[in-house]
Amino acid sequence: MRLLLIFACMFFALVADSFAQPEPSENNKPGAVGFAVRIMGDDNSTRMLMDFDTKLTINIQYMDQPRRIVIDLPKTVFRFAGGKTAIEPRGLVDLVRHGAISKETTRIVLTLKGAAKVSSQEISELKSGIGHRLILDIDAISQQDFTKLIEEQNKIRGASGAVAKKGDRVFKNKNTNAGKNNGRFTIIIDPGHGGIDGGAVGVGGTKEKTITFAVAVQLKKKLEKIGPFDVVLTRDEDVFVSLRQRVDFTRTAQADLFISIHADSLSQRRVRGSTIYTLSKKASDRLSASLAASENLSDLVAGLALPEEKEVVTDILVELTARETIRFSRHFSGILAGTLKNGITLIKNPQRYAAFGVLKAPEVPSVLLELGYLSNKEDEKLMNSKLWQAKVARLVSEAVLKFFKPRLPLPLQP
Ligand SMILES: [Zn+2]
Repeated sequence: MRLLLIFACMFFALVADSFAQPEPSENNKPGAVGFAVRIMGDDNSTRMLMDFDTKLTINIQYMDQPRRIVIDLPKTVFRFAGGKTAIEPRGLVDLVRHGAISKETTRIVLTLKGAAKVSSQEISELKSGIGHRLILDIDAISQQDFTKLIEEQNKIRGASGAVAKKGDRVFKNKNTNAGKNNGRFTIIIDPGHGGIDGGAVGVGGTKEKTITFAVAVQLKKKLEKIGPFDVVLTRDEDVFVSLRQRVDFTRTAQADLFISIHADSLSQRRVRGSTIYTLSKKASDRLSASLAASENLSDLVAGLALPEEKEVVTDILVELTARETIRFSRHFSGILAGTLKNGITLIKNPQRYAAFGVLKAPEVPSVLLELGYLSNKEDEKLMNSKLWQAKVARLVSEAVLKFFKPRLPLPLQP
């Protein structure tokens, strides 16, 4: 009888456990679930309450310009009442973003109205016994104190904040020299944005990060079929990768070509069609300049500090290499524009240039392809179409083949 009871208990525990398991999140591994949230208070003192299905530890850091409180949690999905995932700001908090920053970490970024700090934090079991509540009290402080807070924090951990190194992860398994001098070429496809950084949002709600990833995956398949190309994506899931990491990744891979894919949004809603950008300190026009400026801020969204600008190139060799590389980039941009115009709509003057941070690998020809603009209804509709995505992938892969043609071994004569 006692044995039976033990078995019954074990069975119940198993069943109960399988019910308690949170559903798999975007990375297909279960994480914690945040199921309720509330921010209350005023411009002096604000409280944030968050309920999770499990007890978790958090890590808080501060960022300046704009002032932010950055909260890192173990991988968590948010599912609030009514299926909502957005968090309403209030009091000292002006804007709240959240999302994956790496496979293991989820980040909440609170953009602040003024200088403030977390004066107390506490995690305790909910009275109902079905989870834990995080209580953060945020109080206004002087800008001087905020600056001091950041200085002290940076002394300990460096200014950039910790993020998973995607490049390291992928290239551990890849002999980066394997493709050199054997007639094969390494091409890096860079799906713009990801994780906490969703990129632009379309008039109909489409997220840029979703479009860029869908096209990147199709392009990889097409390229691998069409020529001797080893194709690697800078992210292979919905995860944040900083601009610096995308560039480092490309350099480490000793890539032969880098294609960053975007679908940004413009204030001029009528503007539509694809644009191909290459790097230049001076932008070709105002639209390109403002697009590059906002694109370069994408690390801010994820709660990273802006990179220190080390624009002064001291190494003359690097400078020369970069100049030579830009010539190749422009050459590819020309081929790409010529190929794309046979199948899709291009913007007026489709070959433009601006100071995009992601195009700065000095030795790798790099372009940024804006597929279209999510601020335009027709573009948004097209970019969501699998057929259109496949067409773009085919056209881009044809352009890549044309670009490498002079360096490919001659086909055998019949
Ligand atoms: Zn973008």
